[in-house]
Order: sequence, then C-alpha cells, then structure tokens
Amino acid sequence: MTAMRGVIGQRDMLARVSARAARGEAGQAYGLFGPRSIGKRTVALRIAQTWNCTDPKRPAGGCGTCLACVKIERGLHPDVQLIERAADKTVIEIQQIRDMQQHLALRPLEGRKRVIIIDDAGELNLLTQDVLLKTLEEPPIHAILLVITLAATVLSETIQSRLQPLTFRYVRAAEIAEGLTARKVKDADRIAATSGGLPGLAIRLAADEGGERTMRTGLEQELLKLVSSGLTDRFAWAAGLADESDLRKRVRAIDVRFEQWVEIMRDAALAARGVEVTPLRPDRATQTGRIAAGASARDLIDVTLLIEKLRRDLAWNANARAMLELFALKLPYVAGVAA
Ligand SMILES: [Zn+2]
Repeated sequence: MTAMRGVIGQRDMLARVSARAARGEAGQAYGLFGPRSIGKRTVALRIAQTWNCTDPKRPAGGCGTCLACVKIERGLHPDVQLIERAADKTVIEIQQIRDMQQHLALRPLEGRKRVIIIDDAGELNLLTQDVLLKTLEEPPIHAILLVITLAATVLSETIQSRLQPLTFRYVRAAEIAEGLTARKVKDADRIAATSGGLPGLAIRLAADEGGERTMRTGLEQELLKLVSSGLTDRFAWAAGLADESDLRKRVRAIDVRFEQWVEIMRDAALAARGVEVTPLRPDRATQTGRIAAGASARDLIDVTLLIEKLRRDLAWNANARAMLELFALKLPYVAGVAA
C-alpha cells in the first residue's frame, strides 16, 4: 500500500499531505527539500494531480488516467505551471515570477486549484525571492505553491518561514526494489542496492537513460585510476577538467564526479575503520576494500569530508583548478586499485 500513486518512499510524509488534501485542506505553500533524484518533482506533480483529478474518489496522487491527470503529467494543464531556469540562463528570471503572479491572480480554468511548481528555487536570486515573497504572504485562496530545492537554507529566512517543509529522506533499498518490481524492472534488487537511496537514480539506472550506467562506471574508473596515479598525472587531470571555459558546464562536470566519488571514498573510509554498514556501492566492494587496505582511515575520512566541502562551495568557488589540485593532493595514493 503506497501513500501516493507511483511514488517510491517518503510514505509517512506523503500520507500526511494526502490526508489533508482528501479533507479539502490546502496548505498554501510547501517547501520540498532533499537531494537530487529523490523524487521531489514527482511528488510536486502528484500533489497537483491530487488536487485537480476529476475521479470522484480523489485518490492520493490522482488517478493517473483522467484527462486532468494526463494533462498535468504532460505539462499541458492550464492550471498547473512549472517554473524552471531556461537552459541558456544561470537563474530563474524575475519576469518568470511576475508572469506567474499575473496568471495566479485568475481563478482556475479547469481544476480546483492553481498549482505553481518552482524547480529549483535555489536558482532564484535574492531580488527574485523578494518578488516571490509577495505571493507567499498573500496567496490567492485557489493557489498552491510548491517550492523545490536541495535544502531550505538556500532560501531567505522570510521565504522559509512561509513554507511548510516537506523534507525528503533517503529511501531504503528494499523499498526502492519494491517500487522497481512494481514497474516490472528485472534485476530490481541489484539496481536498488546501487542507487544510494535515490529512487530517481534507480529508475534511470533501470532504463539506462542517457547511458547512466555507462557514465557511472566511467566515473568510477576515473577515480580508481587517479587513486593509483602520481601527482604529475593527477595535476594534469585537474588542469584538463578546469580547462572548460563555460562556467556551468565546468561546475556540472566537477559536481557529477564529486557526487559519485564521495560515495566510493565513504565506503573505503568506513571499511578502513572496520565499521560494518551496508556500502553505498556494494558492486565496487573489491576496489574500496583495496583502497581501505592501502590507506589510513584518517586520510580517507579527510578526503571524504573534503569532497563534501568542495561540493558545497562549488557554485561560489571561482578557482576550479586550485580546488581540483587540493583534492588531487589529499587523495590517498594506493597502487593497483583500478586493475
Ligand atoms: Zn485523475
């Protein structure tokens, strides 16, 4: 029994949201907070569907088959608006929020509620957040605002105070496996085990959209090779990666590496410490075991923390090369890991 149609995990939180919707109580504005690929946008769509579904039973998450549910799923419902950054921009433009406010003043055309989804609100600058605040202070009665971002702290305190927080948690592998099996995915247990608690990643791995599995394997190999490389090769690697002149592409290229590598280094650090926990990358246990055997637990913990810190600072840190060289220096050396 799932709390909301087609959503993997977050059951307790969604049960509360669904119960309120079923009683006809609208929270006016929610903040959906949690890591990438955890299901925030899916839940936002399901909340929109819960409110605007035309099935008289009003199931949690919507029925998924009525015209309103289908239109919402495809982004074609006139009362449900998704606001996101344009591909060629670095932020969500202030005009996008102003246009939304005009639109929101009108009563719903087809549904019960006008639902605005902002994804990712971390891409609103302070001025734009101020404009948005006006809507959060006096939302029209027919409005529901769903504000998606990685963590509440990227928003101003006044915005935070106007949002009911919905905090997304990492999902247990067994629950992800169950969700994959329901989608008729073969090999559900193995994929769930490698997805690090992120249902969105598990679904992409299952479909291998965009060569996700290939990319993960490639990035894993890149790290293992670096671990067994000397400083000259490591610095050449840092220079090459820092060389991308497009800031967004460069940040993304570094972020995607650190996102993957922090998990491998954490597994190695815990193995070196002799802590028995389920590894985040069970399919790389041989290699993380080799790293654990060849480096000190202290150094492995330090580099794991360093990766986390560099990832947090990534958007603000102008000197990519210095950052990558610092990582190259701190990464423990262990011979023959990639072999
Ligand atoms: Zn429906």
